[in-house]
Amino acid sequence: MMRKTDGATGDVVVVGAGVSGLACAADLVDAGVSVRLLEADDAVGGRMRTDSVAGFTVDRGFQVFNTAYPQVKRRVDLRALRLRPFTPGVLVHTDDGPRRFTDPTRRLRESGDLLPGRLASARDLAALGVLSARDTLLPASRLRTRPDATTLTALSDAALSPELVETLLRPFLSGVFLEEDLETSARFFHLVWRTMVRGTLCLPAGGIGAAPAQLASRLPAGVLRTGSPVASLTTDGVALADGGELTARAVVVATGQSAAGRLLPGLDVPPGRTVTTLYHAAERSPLAEPTLVVDARRRFLNTCVLTEVQRGYSGDGRALVSTSVLGSPGPEQEAAVREALGEVYGTDTGAWEAVHRVTVHDALPAMLPPLTLSRTTRCAPGRYVCGDHRATGSVQGALASGARAAREVLADLDRSGPS
Ligand SMILES: Cc1cc2nc3c(=O)[nH]c(=O)nc-3n(C[C@H](O)[C@H](O)[C@H](O)COP(=O)(O)OP(=O)(O)OC[C@H]3O[C@@H](n4cnc5c(N)ncnc54)[C@H](O)[C@@H]3O)c2cc1C
Repeated sequence: MMRKTDGATGDVVVVGAGVSGLACAADLVDAGVSVRLLEADDAVGGRMRTDSVAGFTVDRGFQVFNTAYPQVKRRVDLRALRLRPFTPGVLVHTDDGPRRFTDPTRRLRESGDLLPGRLASARDLAALGVLSARDTLLPASRLRTRPDATTLTALSDAALSPELVETLLRPFLSGVFLEEDLETSARFFHLVWRTMVRGTLCLPAGGIGAAPAQLASRLPAGVLRTGSPVASLTTDGVALADGGELTARAVVVATGQSAAGRLLPGLDVPPGRTVTTLYHAAERSPLAEPTLVVDARRRFLNTCVLTEVQRGYSGDGRALVSTSVLGSPGPEQEAAVREALGEVYGTDTGAWEAVHRVTVHDALPAMLPPLTLSRTTRCAPGRYVCGDHRATGSVQGALASGARAAREVLADLDRSGPS
């Protein structure tokens, strides 16, 4: 039996308080609309949550915070996050030892390993320079409307050699796209490359979850309700899992793709990518720099010593090492990853403590070409859907999709007149 919940009627219910739902709710509140933001979990953030585990700060899967995203610049007080940067570029573990890759248009003096005979040929170096310059200098609108193909095709069109793709670009980009075939849309690749070259990859002092927590802290009291899973959409609002019901003139589903597919039957949702992050504690830091390391043999996606970026991620002075792997590895693969880490860091990892492991299904939506970089959020009268799966699998995409949902809801509410 359904019962009406107190204060049930409002203009808009937003379902899900990941960054897309938070952005949507914030824009609606700013426009003077009455909003309820319902989150199933006990806190906001969705895929951008951070937990405290045995005194360590661990994100729900390793991710980096990119300061160049336009929506991030617009909405987030970066100073309050007390960001610390990664070293620009990556260290690639090759059969010939570690090679440092830094974008040649950014830090020429430090791109020594790119010189012929090290990581890349002179031709590759020039081609990379042209690619980076184009992606940073062209207006984003040009990148968005170029004919689309797979990233693998785009790299070959950019005249990058298969050798460079295999030793550097495939290992690195697999960790960005969460897939190894480089079948992801080239449009998305060029936009990501642009923000990586232009911006700085960082981590907030409080973990990645500090960003959505900041967005939530700006919402007026009474807007956000955590611990409130929505069971279904009704003709005039939503039904809560606890039997309550809320009525609203519009409902925005900002739940992530699988839950959106369940709440809005018939919605076209892309398949998701799965990733697992392993967190290990080591007595001593195995790499005394805040640098992302990738493996040319692709035994894992990427690894880094988180405490070299933010010392406060460890409560007891030990180093915290994060390593991400595609899918959900079994015990044998996990042991193989630990062995690979020993080789990559040049240390005995046998005594490392396995602190935490997190597997995220639907970590990113598959973004296959031709990719529409921003899709309408309107699905039916009074029903909207937003999130990274409606745009691009990134914080930028999720925030932008939430903003678009707010714009579309406001336009439709305006047209339909006062309630
Ligand atoms: C491991 C990992 C690494 C990543 N790395 C990067 C990166 O480096 N850079 C980058 O830009 N992006 C990265 N991303 C992607 C980025 O985190 C996401 O694109 C973004 O957080 C998605 O936000 P969202 O609001 O669309 O969805 P979500 O964060 O999934 O939010 C959906 C919310 O809805 C809630 N919900 C679900 N069902 C219900 C229901 N029935 N009722 C109420 N609430 C419900 C969920 O609890 C959740 O809080 C990464 C993601 C992962 C997982």
